[in-house]
Amino acid sequence: MTDRSAERARIVELDKHRVWHPYTAMDLYRATVDPIVAVRATGSRIEDADGSSYVDANASWWVAALGHDHPRLVAALKRQADELCHVPLAGITHSGAAELGEALCRSAPTGLDHVFYSDDGSTAVEVALKLSLQYWAQNGRPGRATFVALEGGFHGETLGVTALGGVEAFRRPFARALPSCLHVPSPADGLEAAVAALRTLLARRADEIAALVVEPMVQGAAGMRIYEAEYLRAVRELCDAYDVFLVCDEVFTGYGRTGPMWACEHAGIAPDLLCSAKGLTGGMLPMGATLANDRLFDGFLEDSDRAFLYGHSYCGNPLGTAVAVEVLRVFEEEKVLEGVRRRARRIAAAFEAMAELAAVSATRSLGMIGALDLAGDEGYLAYTGWAVYEEARKRGVYLRPLGNVVYVTPPLTIPDEDLDLLLDVVHESVEAATRSR
Ligand SMILES: *Cc1c(COP(=O)(O)O)cnc(C)c1O
Repeated sequence: MTDRSAERARIVELDKHRVWHPYTAMDLYRATVDPIVAVRATGSRIEDADGSSYVDANASWWVAALGHDHPRLVAALKRQADELCHVPLAGITHSGAAELGEALCRSAPTGLDHVFYSDDGSTAVEVALKLSLQYWAQNGRPGRATFVALEGGFHGETLGVTALGGVEAFRRPFARALPSCLHVPSPADGLEAAVAALRTLLARRADEIAALVVEPMVQGAAGMRIYEAEYLRAVRELCDAYDVFLVCDEVFTGYGRTGPMWACEHAGIAPDLLCSAKGLTGGMLPMGATLANDRLFDGFLEDSDRAFLYGHSYCGNPLGTAVAVEVLRVFEEEKVLEGVRRRARRIAAAFEAMAELAAVSATRSLGMIGALDLAGDEGYLAYTGWAVYEEARKRGVYLRPLGNVVYVTPPLTIPDEDLDLLLDVVHESVEAATRSR
């Protein structure tokens, strides 16, 4: 064994001894998985300690919108680290928090003029829930303490947002301990039925409901379930009619993933609260932001008892905000969204072509998302998806499935040659994994 491969083996051994991995059956992992041991990641590629290089098909769990280690983001982080790493956002402010607030609110749909910072996507949604609950509690409607969310929705990991989750497998173990949430059919299963069900629910029970929470345009973790913009327009009208807050969770869909900067733009609507994370710092640091309109903000004024008593240690921290400000500059100066339009057409064409494969029951795409369903194999730990993963890895692509859904969500800036390779490998890997079935 060379030194390098001995060192790699040592890391894997330590890892398997000590580290409990997320969303992982650990006995299976220990027995069968040879993990990628990442030593470097740049652009759309992850390098293993053994020298192999993988195209990152999912942009590091959807965070690395501008690719790994974008030189301008790394430089911004280093600059900031030399100056100011941390201060609490409590009687203290700093340029990053202020500049990011201005830039984010300017980029967002109209009316979202205030920003509350938190730690990640889950807390960005948690903040939206708490803001809604406290708003109604102190503005004359304390009975509004239930949420509405979509079947197949995913909003993160804390107990609060687990209640919103509409992926049954993720919610089941915690179901007895969750805040109150009613689930309505997803528009991905039929637009008209979904609108009708929501209308019926609000007509009967709006007085109990604090907010409706949706992932706009695409339900990510449920398997890249794309739906029509018309649903968001209907939802905006219904929320207005019944005076229910509309929360758009753009943690995954924001920052150009679906084409425009925000998925809400497909429908031309503005929510009352918008949640952002993931692309917010381009995968450099964990950070979340919740944008709110005047009505919500004003509902916490006039008496100090009405203040929002919530805040994380790392709220609006200088390192995160400095990087997030630079992310928005890169989007503008490097015309990232223009590049998305061109790449989105390639992704759409490639997935359309894969609809012809015998093992594929459906394909879809939107912006920098392409997905296909493997026929006859359901559930998060479905086997065939992992067989595709193995085939793709042999071909130099890191392609984690969502159960029987094989998808790509590459960095928005992925070079053409890597995008072509990625799309070819998805095609070949699906064929190879399903040939003998
Ligand atoms: C990933 C995700 C979250 C959770 O974000 P974390 O940063 O992992 O906590 C919330 N909502 C949506 C739509 C997501 O895709």
